[in-house]
Amino acid sequence: MTAPKTPKAVRHCLCGCGATVTKEFRPGHDAKLKGALINQVLAAEAPKATKADKAAGSKALATLTARGWLAHLDKSRASRSAKAERAAARRAARAAARSEAATAAVVTDHPVEQPEPHPGDRLGKALAELPTA
Ligand SMILES: [Zn+2]
Repeated sequence: MTAPKTPKAVRHCLCGCGATVTKEFRPGHDAKLKGALINQVLAAEAPKATKADKAAGSKALATLTARGWLAHLDKSRASRSAKAERAAARRAARAAARSEAATAAVVTDHPVEQPEPHPGDRLGKALAELPTA
């Protein structure tokens, strides 16, 4: 029989996953919370952010500040705007490729009609193709 361990103060992981922990987080879950907070702050900065988004964002920002995670927010913001720029460039490239494909399709679907060769031309061509020897 092992002696019963001194019960530690049990609480829920601060990321909101519901796990019971003796510290603030399950291993790795601080990163999870950090990511969620950063998402909230960035969502609050979006042009179509609602009042609730903004409230959640400023609360998240306060938590990030209190935990000294603001550097991570700046880093995410920079990498996300770079990512958004790349995505926009990809979208533009795809749109360009699509319009090129559409142009190509128009050309194949409606080939320029070749006029029927004149019957005389056909005869002349047939004669020219006859073996000379
Ligand atoms: Zn958790």
